[in-house]
Amino acid sequence: MTKRDYYEILGVSRDASEQELKSAYRKLALKYHPDRNPNDREAEEKFKEAAEAYSVLSDAQKRAAYDRFGHQGVQGGVAPDFDATTFADFADILGDFFGFGDVFGSARRRNRPQRGEDLRYDLEISFEDSLRGATVDIQVPRMETCSRCHGTGAEKEDGLTTCPTCRGRGEVIYQQSFLSIRRTCGQCNGRGQIIRRPCTQCRGEGVTRVERKLKVNIPAGVYDGAKLRLSEEGQPGYNGGPPGDLYVFLKVKEHPVFERKDNDLHCRIPINVAQAALGTEVDVLTPLDGPETIKVPEGTQPGHKIRLKGKGVPVLNGYGRGDLWVHLDVKVPTKLTREQRKIFEQLKETLPVDNEPEDKGFFNKVKDYFV
Ligand SMILES: [Zn+2]
Ligand SMILES: [Zn+2]
Repeated sequence: MTKRDYYEILGVSRDASEQELKSAYRKLALKYHPDRNPNDREAEEKFKEAAEAYSVLSDAQKRAAYDRFGHQGVQGGVAPDFDATTFADFADILGDFFGFGDVFGSARRRNRPQRGEDLRYDLEISFEDSLRGATVDIQVPRMETCSRCHGTGAEKEDGLTTCPTCRGRGEVIYQQSFLSIRRTCGQCNGRGQIIRRPCTQCRGEGVTRVERKLKVNIPAGVYDGAKLRLSEEGQPGYNGGPPGDLYVFLKVKEHPVFERKDNDLHCRIPINVAQAALGTEVDVLTPLDGPETIKVPEGTQPGHKIRLKGKGVPVLNGYGRGDLWVHLDVKVPTKLTREQRKIFEQLKETLPVDNEPEDKGFFNKVKDYFV
């Protein structure tokens, strides 16, 4: 592959001024910057190409050499360090040249205060607690800023010393021809200081692992799958940043009798044919209001449901409650004693046959087959 002409790459004439070169490069660098073109090989190539062209043409000596001898005149001066891993550093170059360092997030930003990570805690609660609300004690394993060194990781007396690599600046500047590339110092990670005597409590980590005891207030009416946020109870922040949050994920256990639908509760109660025909009273142990006596009316049909108004789930963070629905399951006996059979046979004789299908025409047609 033949190398493209540097002037052509930047789209400027051969007698372009320093200012013209600069603004042409800036435009291209912004357009093809990898942050704006993720996973775009072509943009990445264009970005590198522009950076290389500009690094040569903006240097008077190199530009003169390039003008006289072409690419051969400047070979070996630039290419090696322009790989994808140095893109973060370009932000600094651009920032220093054009004064918009924050656009890409410069290397120095890594040392700014950062919020800690959020934590997740899974908590299973009873059906009753979800209706009533509860306070539950939990123990959350998390990291905490070391109480001995307050996060520095070093002993108080002579624990820290100035980083010899960056001499306390936190970043290292690589001078490469005219280009200066800034990088966060690898030895001190930008802190400017290194640990000479590690803290005896956290062994230099700055954090210690603790089981934090917390009280979780579960509001009445909470539903399965709800998330409760405990502000600033997550992992500690970095460089003095605030801690993250703790999210408690609720799992509500199923109830053997009651089922929840929105803010209503439902249950099924079996009654026998005699109870359905004559009417009766049944006691239901409701989860929030104790035993309730339910009047089953005479002539209750299968599938009939009785509503207990306001005996359902409390509205979460609001007022009022849903309803409780008692579904009556009329059970037909499958085994009869001799005595019961006699009674049913008598019933059969005396009960009017008023349960014919509504389509009389159809009934009359099939009736002939059974006579
Ligand atoms: Zn410590
Ligand atoms: Zn350093």
